[in-house]
Amino acid sequence: MDFSLTDEQREVRDWVRTFVRKEILPLEPEVLRRERTGRPGLEPSELRELQLKAKESGFWGVLTPEEYGGMNLGGVMAALLEAELGRSFVPFRFGGSADNILFFANEEQKETYLKPTIAGDRKSCFAITEPGAGSDARAIRTSARQDGDDWIINGEKTFITGGNEADFTMVFAVTDKEKGANGGVTCFLVDRDAGWKSHPIDTMGEWGPAALTFDNVRVPARNILGEVGRGFELAMRWIGQGRYLLPARAIGSCERLLEMGIDYARTRETFGQPIAERQAIQWMIADSAVEIEALRWLVLHAAWQVDQGMDSRQAQSMAKLYGGIKANEIVDRVLQIHGGMGYTRELPVERWYRELRLLRIYEGTDEIQRRTIARNLLKGHASVSGTLG
Ligand SMILES: Cc1cc2nc3c(=O)[nH]c(=O)nc-3n(C[C@H](O)[C@H](O)[C@H](O)COP(=O)(O)OP(=O)(O)OC[C@H]3O[C@@H](n4cnc5c(N)ncnc54)[C@H](O)[C@@H]3O)c2cc1C
Repeated sequence: MDFSLTDEQREVRDWVRTFVRKEILPLEPEVLRRERTGRPGLEPSELRELQLKAKESGFWGVLTPEEYGGMNLGGVMAALLEAELGRSFVPFRFGGSADNILFFANEEQKETYLKPTIAGDRKSCFAITEPGAGSDARAIRTSARQDGDDWIINGEKTFITGGNEADFTMVFAVTDKEKGANGGVTCFLVDRDAGWKSHPIDTMGEWGPAALTFDNVRVPARNILGEVGRGFELAMRWIGQGRYLLPARAIGSCERLLEMGIDYARTRETFGQPIAERQAIQWMIADSAVEIEALRWLVLHAAWQVDQGMDSRQAQSMAKLYGGIKANEIVDRVLQIHGGMGYTRELPVERWYRELRLLRIYEGTDEIQRRTIARNLLKGHASVSGTLG
């Protein structure tokens, strides 16, 4: 069993590590200042500039196929890079990517939606959640009714990431009520100028999702992504693609937080000694280090399964569940190590505390991951011995 990185993996990882150190970390004080006055941490033009800088060194479309100008680096590499980016709270991501389901577009749709999204000229959003349908996505009510060559969409979506900025949405609507999620849900590519509206939702995080309303929005049939009635499968593909990437990012955040905790513990003195000398503090440090290590291997194992073309759903759910829970415990401990300072807005700990909370909710809550994991075991689709059998 070989747990070491290849020379190429190390080289690519180290490049990103240096990029984060040189280009991203110096932005942190300004990003914090802006966010604390209610402004976005990075303006879209600044994000774009950073993405183009990375592109000069070939970093563009980490998971995008080469025929679309991407690097197609695969799951393990993507997870390693995500962990490096997670070391900063600056909302940076590499350019050159598009939602995986847009690759199911036909040639005409690829020109209008996929390629401009990869190029960064268009912004998409993925809209399935509704006020009455979150974990139970099969319960969506947004409907699309055929009218000649067009479809008329009515309904409401909520918590849609990027929904305020997107100029088109991939929206999921019921086209056959009888069949519902079993062949009666269709995905539509809908431009903003077709008439859907978005409203920001204020959250405890630094970026807000949107509520979308569709009031008799008319869409031509050529804007159906995939086939009529096959939308739910696309939605599951979108949700399933990158569950391991969310906890991958959390690895970096937890490493950075723990480093902050260790530094602070070394220098903060109480009762004549650095708090690092206290067993209570040492145990927090030790538990966090063990959990980060465990998370790293859960994530890399899931990513490795993705690269092998294996059914990675169980491994991805485990990584997502563990990552969400442990990242929240670790940020809480690091805040505790900092005492009152941890609670202030002078340090970014409280910012991470708020941001990491989301990890236990979106793209499948903790409870839904547990449900998946337990069901796979109960039905015999997975074994408690894991991949090794
Ligand atoms: C910031 C943010 C961004 C998001 N981005 C997107 C996006 O881009 N696109 C999109 O479509 N959606 C998005 N979502 C929606 C997100 O996926 C849902 O919020 C999530 O799936 C949970 O659904 P819900 O909020 O309706 O909670 P509910 O499903 O109502 O769940 C409420 C509680 O009950 C628990 N629960 C539910 N069912 C069960 C069960 N069977 N057994 C045990 N417990 C259960 C849940 O775990 C949770 O604790 C986003 C959400 C947030 C907060």
